[in-house]
Amino acid sequence: METIPFNKIYLTGKEMHYISQTLTAGKTCGSGEFTHRCQSFFENKFGKGKCLLTTSCTDALEMCAMLADIQPGDEVIVPSYTFVSTALAFVRQGAKIIFADSRRDNPGIDETQLEALITPRTRAIVPVHYAGVACDMDALMNLAARYNLLVIEDAAQAVDSFYKGRPLGTIGHLAAFSFHETKNLQCGEGGMLVVNDPKFIKRAEILWEKGTNRAEFFRGEINKYGWVDTGSSFLPAEYVSAFLWAQLEEMDNIQKKRKAIWETYYEHLQGIGRLTLPVIPDYATNNAHAFYAICSTPAERTDLIAYLKEHGIHAVFHYLSLHKSAFAISRHWNEANLPQADRYTDCLVRLPLFYDLSIEQVIRISHTIQNFYNSRQ
Ligand SMILES: *Cc1c(COP(=O)(O)O)cnc(C)c1O
Repeated sequence: METIPFNKIYLTGKEMHYISQTLTAGKTCGSGEFTHRCQSFFENKFGKGKCLLTTSCTDALEMCAMLADIQPGDEVIVPSYTFVSTALAFVRQGAKIIFADSRRDNPGIDETQLEALITPRTRAIVPVHYAGVACDMDALMNLAARYNLLVIEDAAQAVDSFYKGRPLGTIGHLAAFSFHETKNLQCGEGGMLVVNDPKFIKRAEILWEKGTNRAEFFRGEINKYGWVDTGSSFLPAEYVSAFLWAQLEEMDNIQKKRKAIWETYYEHLQGIGRLTLPVIPDYATNNAHAFYAICSTPAERTDLIAYLKEHGIHAVFHYLSLHKSAFAISRHWNEANLPQADRYTDCLVRLPLFYDLSIEQVIRISHTIQNFYNSRQ
């Protein structure tokens, strides 16, 4: 019996071709033709905003923290149920992280509990579109407007997904995407900053290129460039962008296949045992970033993952609540009681989902889960 891995990278077949073009052209540093092609691809799709490729989503979030000018002691509201980077990028600027709980019906931030977390020191809210499913952005943007806060979308998982018809990553003041090998569109390690509020565009270009005004220089707006601000080297090498370009060209095909896998799971796992299937609110779309389900107890999840492993299927749990992490405890940020974050930490299981997974394999996985629950009745 072949083992089904949890994830497998997908290559469109054009990656080496485009990578070798950058080598032949003798131009391998950042901000070259493929970088601009990738940025334009998203700028055209989004219809507004400035996109800058970065070496990771973590980097793009660090740029967001710099652009927001987070100062030591400023507070940033982040869901507890997320990847470390969502919080870490702001911690590096000296922020105090205020952890928020997830919704009961999906792991996205619970917008109804946010107002109670706002203090005079709050500067930003960072919603995470978990599994590519939108948070309630109208509620978040209205709250942010009332308290003069920034909304920074962690759209790492949210490529080609929408909120009320608007692309995720275009709604907050700033947003960050990931092209890590585990994401729908990938290049190994990669990310993208999206600047939706035009007042940040000029500074974003400067932070991106080591605190210099090189971008203005290349546009001919100034006649020499120099050091004008803080920043770092956030831009990827051209061959990384070339890899990503091969994926962007195939986006529709990739998305179609992933959605077919997702729908097959959803159809075959209906009404099984006490398994709760994902809920996609009316305002959101599904980009098939991940297929997850929620077990009724932590023990049930442990047994299910072990049973799948015995049957050659690699299923995994996901985040550990950040408010209970060793780092949060060391900062005394662990006082909140966040029952939904804990429930997802303990009970959520993710099933294999990657381009080369066949529909037959998805059905086999679904039947194995059915057998697990049948054996427990
Ligand atoms: C993958 C991911 C990140 C980090 O992305 P990198 O590109 O690996 O830095 C951040 N936040 C979320 C929600 C993610 O899923």
